[in-house]
Amino acid sequence: MTASRTYYFDSNATTSVAPEVLEAMLPYLTEKWGNPSSPYRLGKNLVAPLQAARESAAALIGADPTEIVFTSCGTESSNTAITSCLYTQPAKRHIVTTAVEHSATRNCCAALAERGYAVTFLPVNRDGSLDLARFEQALRPDTAVVSIMWANNETGVLFPIPQIAALCRQRGILIHTDAVQVPGKLKIDVNELGVDLLSLSAHKLHGPKGVGLLYVRKGTPFQPLIIGGHQEEGHRGGTENMPYLVGFGRAAELARAVTPEQRRTLAALRDSLEQQILTQIPHTTRNGAKEPRLPNTTSISFVGVEAEALLLLLDQLGICASSGSACTTGSVAPSHVLTAMGLSPAEARSTLRFSLDYENTAEDVAYLMSHLPRLVAELRAAASPRTAARVSPALARAS
Ligand SMILES: *Cc1c(COP(=O)(O)O)cnc(C)c1O
Repeated sequence: MTASRTYYFDSNATTSVAPEVLEAMLPYLTEKWGNPSSPYRLGKNLVAPLQAARESAAALIGADPTEIVFTSCGTESSNTAITSCLYTQPAKRHIVTTAVEHSATRNCCAALAERGYAVTFLPVNRDGSLDLARFEQALRPDTAVVSIMWANNETGVLFPIPQIAALCRQRGILIHTDAVQVPGKLKIDVNELGVDLLSLSAHKLHGPKGVGLLYVRKGTPFQPLIIGGHQEEGHRGGTENMPYLVGFGRAAELARAVTPEQRRTLAALRDSLEQQILTQIPHTTRNGAKEPRLPNTTSISFVGVEAEALLLLLDQLGICASSGSACTTGSVAPSHVLTAMGLSPAEARSTLRFSLDYENTAEDVAYLMSHLPRLVAELRAAASPRTAARVSPALARAS
């Protein structure tokens, strides 16, 4: 059976390009195809729309347009932020981050550790929260940068960035935050946050894939990662990707227009899905603190169920969700976020993330819930009793 439409519960992985965004982009893929650095009108006429995109992006986060550096993705933004802090302070060779960062930060820091930098990967509590006293103890005189995400993409848990930033600023340590999951879901104000650097990615806010943004606070020492032409005021070489930058600008306007009322509605829909799963399906648990977290994300472990198998069954029904596991040839590595929170590898492999969006409706949730309890029961029944006993003695007794 093939479902005729898609029920999308994976907005933290990517989002659709909004029709308004596509419409704004199209002229720059067709008649307005010039290079904004050119001296003739075909190019020069692009300078104003480029500036408008920068202003829209800046407005989304309460920044000045001169503090916006466009990049190719969120990953490039975070890599640029971290390496810039190291290049500009060669005497400082220590990085503080957490064990639950997106691979964009985590693997960048791991690669830097292999090149001789000292990296502290701070552990998290069982509910995914960070111990601020422990964070403070990790800061050293030679700490060049703290890179800590604002919202976790797997659990939605929020870290207290204003407090973290204040502790950094007291010590003259540069602070970068990966805020890729935040636009449209929470209000962003870089001055309230107090960060020096902040990363965003357009495809998480209904813009196109392949364009990101790095906020660089005025006065922050900076060295580019991508070295080339004078584009982005020398902060990032490479001819401006006009259609995508314009798309980012339009997407930023849409994200900024999201109202508190819409956010409450989104949170209520997420809460409704979460409650239905936890009450209608036995042996399920939510991962991560209930608050503070993003209004759209829930991470649930289904004891005794292989999440990868459940995802395949859901896909046949047109339902998209995520397991958080990294599929590497032949084997499934459990999510590093969930294992850092103290889940066993088996518990982590039994976990699904549902991440909603303003496009989701109560009907979508009803459709999901009309199938999920049965699929979970079938997978549990198919698992050997021995497997059931290993993951949950209670479940083995029940079956
Ligand atoms: C998606 C994501 C990224 C990476 O963004 P790309 O544009 O895909 O490189 C980084 N951090 C978080 C938290 C994300 O969710």
